[in-house]
Parts: sequence; structure tokens; C-alpha cells
Amino acid sequence: MLTSICGINWGDEGKGRMVDLLSQKFDIVCRYQGGNNAGHTVINERGKFILNLLPSGILREGVVNVLGNGMVIDIKHLAQEAEHLRAQGISITPENLKISDKAVITMPYHVLLDCLEEERLADKKFGSTRRGIAPVYADKYMKKAFRMGELLHPERLYKRVKDIVEWKNLTIVGGYRHAPVTADEVIEYFKTYGEPLKEYICDVGLYLNEANKAGKDILFEAQLGALRDIDFGIYPYTSSSSTIAAYAPIGAGVPNLKLDRSIGIMKAYSTCVGEGPFTAEYFGEKAEALRAAGGEYGAATGRPRRVGPFDVVASRYGIRCQGADEIALTKLDVLSAFSELEICTAYELDGKIVHEFPFSDALDRCKPVFERIKGWNCDISGCRKFDELPAEAQAYVRLIEKLCECRIRYVSVGAEREEYIEL
Ligand code: GDP
Ligand code: MG
Repeated sequence: MLTSICGINWGDEGKGRMVDLLSQKFDIVCRYQGGNNAGHTVINERGKFILNLLPSGILREGVVNVLGNGMVIDIKHLAQEAEHLRAQGISITPENLKISDKAVITMPYHVLLDCLEEERLADKKFGSTRRGIAPVYADKYMKKAFRMGELLHPERLYKRVKDIVEWKNLTIVGGYRHAPVTADEVIEYFKTYGEPLKEYICDVGLYLNEANKAGKDILFEAQLGALRDIDFGIYPYTSSSSTIAAYAPIGAGVPNLKLDRSIGIMKAYSTCVGEGPFTAEYFGEKAEALRAAGGEYGAATGRPRRVGPFDVVASRYGIRCQGADEIALTKLDVLSAFSELEICTAYELDGKIVHEFPFSDALDRCKPVFERIKGWNCDISGCRKFDELPAEAQAYVRLIEKLCECRIRYVSVGAEREEYIEL
């Protein structure tokens, strides 16, 4: 069985905790896109963990974790993340972590270029996470990137360094007037952070195909949401990779295999990090109250997230992009703080009501249409069955299900592993 878990919205839907919960049933968890630009927060009996690169399955014994070819891997960050987890008692070995030889390496000069560009843009900045993601994906498609598998043959790898560095300096020195990168420092970097990873690097496609034949259950874990997908998201305010479920088999290394099931993680309200159109956005006190109730500050960056009510238009589009068969609706408990709730049910575009998510430039002109419904205004974090929820909370979930035309299978009512309801 091949299952994907993807974000339906702008990211930070609580994918990390849902994967942590659902990965019990899986033998293998794969990451297939992105890098260390997003953060998953997982809280379980072993503690609180923040994962940027490693799949959430790393927290479970016996689960094998894969970093796929669609990823960009900052090897220094990986070393630090692994060190933190090991200090928290998590074991990471070549038995439970496999890194694709075809994954691309995010270099310090990619991070540098990301920062230089954000500084150049100044007040027009995009809100990049400054982790070098756009520059490294650009190099991948320019065919000027280094890949993990090259670390297995250092002599050949080091020979390429000089040419690549020369080319990079055309931009770093010539364009941004910054001090050059040297071949020596790049080689030193590979020695320090690449060498220790050698045993983890392999053809993960081969491994996954064999595992699939042997009847293993494989889970693909996305980072970021549908609306950050490079093709289908709110371009250019997107990530630089494909965050959608259909890309999972490709980015994991098994383009020959097909998904059996797509689970969409959708938040009971909306949040968005960084710039870009966010139609249902709240401002002022309303925003403050929701942000505080939901603890909406970035896991990777600590930045306050933009917040708003549940957005039917964007979520339905996200569900379509992800081909979601079923939904996990997260953070319903956050709405317990309010006696009245709003849902954005449509957009108004140039005087017309629209229900389908428009192209990016039209999105800037959209205004939200809100509908009000009664809240429940009491603690629901102890509920473990749907009928234990107050009638208003049940109605809220059923209304969203109806408007989004997709079955809601799970509802989470707290950040901890067991704080959820299966419908
Ligand atoms: P991800 O990027 O999609 O994995 O999500 P993040 O980890 O960035 O953000 C989700 C945040 O919400 C984390 O701090 C979680 O611990 C927390 N969280 C997840 N599910 C719930 C829930 O049902 N209720 C509450 N109150 N918090 C939750
Ligand atoms: Mg996150």
C-alpha cells in the first residue's frame, strides 16, 4: 500500500503530528520534496521534536525513513538535526535512514545567495526562509548542483568543485559584490558534513520497489501545502518544489508505482507564513486572538503566522490538487476560544461571487465572503469520539465536510498524539 499525506492549505496544517500518528501503521516513511525550509512539530511520549529534514517516522522504532531524490538536503543542517534527536534518545542509523543518491545537496553558498537576494529586495522581499531552497533548486535545473551520490566518490566530486565555484562566483562576486566562495572551503565542507553520511546514501528507488513487492506499507510525507506547490500554488509566493501527492512517487524514487490513497491535512482555520495573497486574512485584534489561541508562530523561524478563518474556496482547490480521498481536520480545539465563528465560503472578484480558486493575479483583487456560525466555546480537547463533541462543533465539522465535498476521517483536538477523533 502506498499512501501520501499532504497539506491542503498553505502549510503548517499539522502534517508532522498526523504523520506521527498514522506512521504507526507504516513500515516506511518517505520525504519526497523540499528541504529544511519547513518545520514539523511532533509531541509524543518521548518529548517534543522539531523536524526539518527527517521524516516523522524517525521517531518510531522499526520504521525506515527515506529522503527522496526530489529533496534538497542541507548536509550541515542534517548533521545538527540528527545530533539534536540523538541527544533526545532517538536512534538514527543506516538501518532506519536511507538517503537517495539522486537528492541534491544544498550548499552554504545557496543559503548565502538566498540571504543576499532577500537583502537586495529589501522591503519588496518575498519572505524566503533563507535556507537556500530556491537557489539550490535553480542550480538543480541548471544542472550545476551536487548530488548526494557524488559523496561516495570524493575524488570525482572534488574535480567538479572548481568549475562550479567559478560559475557561482560570477553571481556572488560579479552580481552581488560579495566575497568569493573558494573551492577549498567547498571541499572542506564535503569532508566535514558529507563523509559521515556515506553509509546512508543508496538507490532508495530500488529499496522502495523491493519493499513494496514484499508488501510493506509506504507513507509519503509532504512538507508545505498545496498552495505552496511550484505549479499549482500562489506563484511566485510558493516553494520551489512540487508539494502535491501526485509527485510523491517521483520525488521518492518510485515513478513506476501508484498511490493507493491520499490523505489531506486541512486546518480548521487558515494560516499563512510570509508574503502573498491570503484572501480570508484577519487583521488587528481578531487576528491576534486567533494567532494566540492557535500558537501560530513558525516552527522553523518563529515568525508570527498570518491567520484567518477556514477558507472553503482555497481548501476545495487544495483538495483537488492533492487528489485527497479523505481529510484529517486539525486544530479544531483552537476554535474553542470563540463563541462565534466565521467561514470564508466564497470570494468576491470584480463584483462577482466566485467559488473556484482563481489565477494568482486575480487573487489579489478577491475579497472574502464570510458566513457566521455559532461556536461551542468550551474545552473539547478531552473528546475522543465524534458524538462527545458539542453539537456546534459537530455541525462545524459537518459543514466543512459538505462544503469541501470530501470525507473528513480524523479530527484533531490537541497537539498530542492521542488527542484526536476518528470518524
Ligand atoms: P506542519 O508543518 O504541517 O507539520 O505543522 P507545524 O508543526 O508547523 O504546525 C502545527 C502546530 O500545531 C504544531 O505546533 C503542533 O504541535 C500543533 N498542533 C497540531 N495538531 C494540533 C491540534 O489538534 N491542536 C492544537 N492545539 N495544536 C495542534
Ligand atoms: Mg510547519
